[in-house]
Amino acid sequence: MDDMSSDFWMDKGCSAAPDHIPCPAIVARSDCHEHIPSWLLALPYPAALVSYDGATLDIENCNALFQRHFKALIDNPDIDGVEWQRYLLDQISSFALSKNEVSRFDIERQSVLGTEVYMCTLAWVQNSADSSPMILVSAIDRTADRRVEDSLRRELVSDTLTALPNRIGFGEAVESMLLDFDGEDPDTGISVIIIDLMRFSRINEALGTMAGDELILAVAARLKARLGDDILLARLGGDEFGICCTIPQGEDHIHDLVKRIKDTITAPVRLANLEISIDCAIGCSLVPVAEAEADELIRQAQTAARSGKKTGRAELYQPGELKIARRRFLIESQLRDTLANGGLNLMYQPIIELASSTVVGFEALARWEDPEMGVISPVDFIPVAEESGLVVQLGRWALQEAMCQLRSWDAKMGMRVPVKMNVNLSPIQMVRDDVIATITRALQEAEQQGDRLTIELTESAIVGDPEKSLLLLNALKKSHIAVAMDDFGTGYSNMASLQSLPIDVLKIDRSFVSDMLVDQDKMAITKAILSLAKALNMKATAEGIEDAEVAEALRDLGCTYGQGYYFAKPMNADDALNYWLESSKRGIN
Ligand code: C2E
Ligand code: MG
Ligand code: MG
Repeated sequence: MDDMSSDFWMDKGCSAAPDHIPCPAIVARSDCHEHIPSWLLALPYPAALVSYDGATLDIENCNALFQRHFKALIDNPDIDGVEWQRYLLDQISSFALSKNEVSRFDIERQSVLGTEVYMCTLAWVQNSADSSPMILVSAIDRTADRRVEDSLRRELVSDTLTALPNRIGFGEAVESMLLDFDGEDPDTGISVIIIDLMRFSRINEALGTMAGDELILAVAARLKARLGDDILLARLGGDEFGICCTIPQGEDHIHDLVKRIKDTITAPVRLANLEISIDCAIGCSLVPVAEAEADELIRQAQTAARSGKKTGRAELYQPGELKIARRRFLIESQLRDTLANGGLNLMYQPIIELASSTVVGFEALARWEDPEMGVISPVDFIPVAEESGLVVQLGRWALQEAMCQLRSWDAKMGMRVPVKMNVNLSPIQMVRDDVIATITRALQEAEQQGDRLTIELTESAIVGDPEKSLLLLNALKKSHIAVAMDDFGTGYSNMASLQSLPIDVLKIDRSFVSDMLVDQDKMAITKAILSLAKALNMKATAEGIEDAEVAEALRDLGCTYGQGYYFAKPMNADDALNYWLESSKRGIN
């Protein structure tokens, strides 16, 4: 206020600038509705002209609407105890003391019909040439707008089916729970629990969406009844519920709560005359209140729920899990671009016939070097590609690339290089792609015959759908394509199906091979796999041979082929061809 010139106050009809904002007294002129300027009468909303001399607010004139809506202000200028009046007068007096031209604010007051909201505007007006400027107070009733806004907001934050908070409402409620909690007790934590109903979409498909809705309502009602009002319950999406509560730190408490939730959900429900049992995956996050952030807690619980879906148990979020999930996400989005832009490479690792030390083939292995993330191992990106379905595209690319590589080697050597190419096929590709069509196309484009290709499958590919696998393998056989069972010994092969499938090679997993000379159990397993291969009339390839002794021992045990760092690491195409050339000239050992 210091810079306020005295002219300003003189202009406004005040004798001097006040030192502080005094608590204004209000005086309503008894004749305030007389001699009303016609423009004030014409305003379609409550309006009044107010003068202020630094101590007293004086309602000089007002229109009929102002009289009707703000009668209390005129009749009872003693404003003590009436909050909205106090607020309005404070705003007017602050405005009078400020240099502002206009001021806008909302006032809310309670009436028998609920909360009324007025948008007030204050502005200086000069009523007549010879009078001092006065403050025009106008108030537009926004009660109806506010009700619409409130109801839209309620819709925005609540789920229409269950009337529980939805995803947005849940986030806000968790946030305000965190703010409300004083956090003084270090032994109290805050927990978010995510519940994912299993096979809900099947129920929707089989019994219709009405039954699905009924089930959701039943689950919501049960949880609400069982957990009580102190626990925040929300429906975050189709079959996903969220819970947030404060809880004593320690896993025991959370386990008790999770057990209660699980029992509540899994108790059978009667739907469309059927008794249905539904299971759920549960993920929880639990942190001391002081460390909690709403978004982070919810994300952690969702990550744990995803693990819960895989393990079938309720999972408590483990620190670091989110980092892994984020990396997976980053890998997925980058991989999509990399695949589209041809940024992956294949490396080739030789497969050696142990008895003759000749190179009989190469395994094509995908490599990815990202400019930002560096070299990413297939052990990291293949599972992400499988989860996201990108492995179909990746697999098609690998087949095409590997077959074209054979063609370029042949062209370079001016002969058919006597090596086969092993290409890995993911179980997901078997489910999602027309594998035969993809392979046929790759062979045709590279002008290659099937007898130059070995497809590497894992046991899980076959266990999933043995009948489909049999059809596929028979089709491969017809095209003279060989089949190798990769990582053999680590999965759960059904011996009966193994026997009935046209498999050419068992690849003994490197976990048995690497230390078979120092670990008797591993030696026993390796021998057993070799006997099995012999009995089933299959060949065997030992993976992960890292030294000469292991190579020799395997050869003596009758293992046909070997692969591993002892012979060579995966190499680029030129080095691989040279490796073949050199070894074909002079043998390896
Ligand atoms: P895999 O098919 O069992 O491939 C063998 C893996 O063992 C390769 O790892 C290879 O570099 C590694 N290896 C070979 N010899 C040795 C050795 O002596 N010592 C050690 N420590 N490791 C050895 P890589 O290239 O990291 O590939 C890992 C896995 O990624 C492969 O296992 C395969 O399952 C998958 N993969 C790689 N490329 C593709 C692809 O194009 N498509 C699909 N679907 N999967 C692929
Ligand atoms: Mg392989
Ligand atoms: Mg393998």
